[in-house]
Amino acid sequence: MVSEQMYELGTKKSTIRTIFEYGQKRAAEVGAENVFDFSLGNPNVPTPDFIRDAAIDILVHSDPMEVHGYTIAPGKPQVCDVLAADLKKRFGMEITGKNLFLTAGAAASVTIAFKALTEEGDEFVSIAPYFPEYRVFVESCGGKLVVVPAKVDDFQIDFAALEAVITTHTKAVIINSPNNPSGAVYNEATIRQLADLLRAKEMEYAHPIFIIADEPYREIVYDGNSVPCIPQFYDNTIVCYSYSKSFSLPGERIGYIAVPDSVADFARVYGAIAGAARVLTHVNAPSLWQLVIARCAGKAADLSTYARNAALLYEGLSAAGFDCMRPQGAFYLFPKALEEDDEAFCARAREFDLLLVPGADFGCPGYFRAAYCVRTEMIERALPRFQKLAAFYKEIHE
Ligand code: PLP
Repeated sequence: MVSEQMYELGTKKSTIRTIFEYGQKRAAEVGAENVFDFSLGNPNVPTPDFIRDAAIDILVHSDPMEVHGYTIAPGKPQVCDVLAADLKKRFGMEITGKNLFLTAGAAASVTIAFKALTEEGDEFVSIAPYFPEYRVFVESCGGKLVVVPAKVDDFQIDFAALEAVITTHTKAVIINSPNNPSGAVYNEATIRQLADLLRAKEMEYAHPIFIIADEPYREIVYDGNSVPCIPQFYDNTIVCYSYSKSFSLPGERIGYIAVPDSVADFARVYGAIAGAARVLTHVNAPSLWQLVIARCAGKAADLSTYARNAALLYEGLSAAGFDCMRPQGAFYLFPKALEEDDEAFCARAREFDLLLVPGADFGCPGYFRAAYCVRTEMIERALPRFQKLAAFYKEIHE
């Protein structure tokens, strides 16, 4: 009567959702201040005033037809022009408005990219740990997700392992830097090495192999790290972006896909992006928010809370005996669990009212994710709990 696959997807709760619901229930029992929820990647930096002011001004002073009317499928041309000029100025991206397709956030951007590119038998390579929705999105387009582990000491690309999984069926490699959940950022040398490898594979298999650069955390980097503009190093790059994290706008659903002219057969690829957006009914990204992001192009929110939280949680957990990598970007810490079974570990952590997500959810068992897009004060109060959790394991191991 209904699609079994859709029913499964719609009714099977994700681990994060289950943890969130547990947290709500537990908060009712012991008080919200006693539950330390590190499960969600929902930005806690308030949406900047300049965004709110722009939205109000546009709502009050602009023609309602302009604000609320349909736009053409890729978005308002004047908005695309402004954003393209800003991307060129900030990152040296060689694009104009005609290279952009506005979307309802990064999830829409990557799904449209997968749908646009997928032909029968195609494979998309993802480096674990990875954003779990990639599997849902790729499979829903009829593609196959091929997962290759990162190097676990620093979560950088394991090039030998990556090379081994690239075949004639590879349509694209998904690059998510800064990474959810590992916090790793790929530097220029890494992107150059990746570009060299993929160019060699393109020659070998005589067809393009795309990079799909999923970059919702592009602006969230620490300690002098920076995020290279991948199209400058590799022609066949499709950039997927959203304003969910940089402007704290996840509920408004606004982002873009950038397809530079350098992409092989640009007109066909951009045309397929438009077609995929059409069948996925992702045309005409929210009109008010198109105007707001154009008005605010080039402005930057104060995201320094995340750097403070990163340092506090990383140093606190390291001192408590956790083995973790100092995050270079995004807002997640991805330490080693204190027992092999990361799900059992997270269940144990719940007994200390610490809500954490098992690494297995991200294709990387034996680890856990702590999202630190939370109040700094909550991290301060949570550290003694992490110490108690570590002491518990120390005791049973002795
Ligand atoms: N890609 C990654 C790596 C993410 O972490 C997220 C959200 O957390 C998304 C895509 C989806 O972002 P959006 O809210 O813009 O759809």
